[in-house]
Amino acid sequence: MNSQHIYDIVGIGVGPFNLGLACLTQPLNELSTIFFDSKDEFDWHSGIMPEGSTLQIPFIADLVSFADPKNPYSFLNYLKLHNRLYQFFIRESFFILRAEYNLYCKWATEQLENVHFKSFINQIDYDESRQLYTVRVKQPQGEMTVVTKNLVLGTGTTPITPKFCQGYPEQIHSSADYLRHKKDYLNKKSITIVGGGQSGAEIYYDLLSEIDQHEYQLNWLTKAPHFFSMDLGKLTLEYTSPDYTSHFYSLDEDKRDQVIGSQNALYKGIELSFVNRIYDLLYQKSLNRPIPARMMPNCALDAVEQQGNHLNLTFKNSDINKRFKLESEVLILALGYEYKIPECLNPIRSLINWDSKGRIALNWNYSINDDNTIFAQNIGIYSHGFTVPDLGMGCYRNAIIINTILGREVYPVEKRIAYQEFAPMPEEVVTPLKTSSKSHSTELSF
Ligand SMILES: Cc1cc2nc3c(=O)[nH]c(=O)nc-3n(C[C@H](O)[C@H](O)[C@H](O)COP(=O)(O)OP(=O)(O)OC[C@H]3O[C@@H](n4cnc5c(N)ncnc54)[C@H](O)[C@@H]3O)c2cc1C
Repeated sequence: MNSQHIYDIVGIGVGPFNLGLACLTQPLNELSTIFFDSKDEFDWHSGIMPEGSTLQIPFIADLVSFADPKNPYSFLNYLKLHNRLYQFFIRESFFILRAEYNLYCKWATEQLENVHFKSFINQIDYDESRQLYTVRVKQPQGEMTVVTKNLVLGTGTTPITPKFCQGYPEQIHSSADYLRHKKDYLNKKSITIVGGGQSGAEIYYDLLSEIDQHEYQLNWLTKAPHFFSMDLGKLTLEYTSPDYTSHFYSLDEDKRDQVIGSQNALYKGIELSFVNRIYDLLYQKSLNRPIPARMMPNCALDAVEQQGNHLNLTFKNSDINKRFKLESEVLILALGYEYKIPECLNPIRSLINWDSKGRIALNWNYSINDDNTIFAQNIGIYSHGFTVPDLGMGCYRNAIIINTILGREVYPVEKRIAYQEFAPMPEEVVTPLKTSSKSHSTELSF
């Protein structure tokens, strides 16, 4: 680390996306890069990692393979170096254990000398005359600055906590902290989980498995019209592709918002096999007695009140259009994650582009300013589609970022992989529509 040196890239945050960028830039001698994360060490969602849980995407979507399968930081190379390749082969599953994915990423950070933990970025300034960013890094040993030509934000997302749920730290927790609190939950009389996605489902299953030993009342509610499973049909999986990302980006802003609003089942639901496991467990548990467990769709939590040692939860049922109350000693929020603009960006907010709804406006190449020098990972579902948080598209985005910064195609990026077409060819369109798509350029220019 050198405060006099001018880096080409400073990465802020080291989750899987910026870690992938660190791995893919490591063999490129022409790029000088450095990455910082505030955590003590790499840690990927370990607070909600039930034993045996797996990634929802195949292992090939590791840190590097989609951009460069020969890169030393591939998952297969990790297995080879840890003498687990044959065991992985015999296991015959494409799906990595979540705990193993965490170990794999941690291993990658340990190989990379330019990835630093315990390093919180608290301010970024821009020197117009030198066209350089100064990044202030807070570390246990003190504060230092580094200077860079480009920034890549990889600060991730944070669990959604409605305002009315704040202020009850003993009784209301996020699903992200589930394992930390689980021991306490087991002594409670009632537990309520809100949110019908994969995290809510995993927590419900885990607590349901132990319900006979602990005798709590277990409730699981979602505002969705049903506990829906994710659509993982292969023609739907084709939407996780460069083709669909380009198509989605080419639509105008209102159309994109409308389309994304109709795509919940493509990325928000529960894995089908997991839905079936929950059903089978309910069936098994109800053999000898009614299970003290409730599940209710169509119920939106809209108020919380503390009374003695329990919470009064108010829900609105959208089918009967009525409110009702539920008592619970604890509430687990599994409402998904949201992007929060990091405070360190405050001094350079005016350099960033914003869309008409006040959201960060991403260029096609994931840069967020006119000069293409600030890039952002894992934001822009509204511009690049629902696969933005998908680990399977991380290499694609990183390849585009690297290619843009270097001005040449270092990592070739596939343009068409889908059998289906997401729009007719321009020459096939016979009726120009008045509210047609904007002509966003989705071509990479190097
Ligand atoms: C439980 C769970 C399971 C998931 N499973 C899958 C899956 O199976 N398949 C899939 O495709 N997707 C999955 N996802 C979605 C997604 O891929 C992950 O959320 C992924 O972790 C996103 O990575 P990231 O790099 O954006 O950020 P994160 O992993 O969130 O990491 C961001 C990092 O930035 C650091 N940071 C933030 N601000 C600063 C700052 N100012 N200074 C320094 N450091 C900072 C944080 O400490 C953090 O370590 C899952 C998500 C969750 C929550």
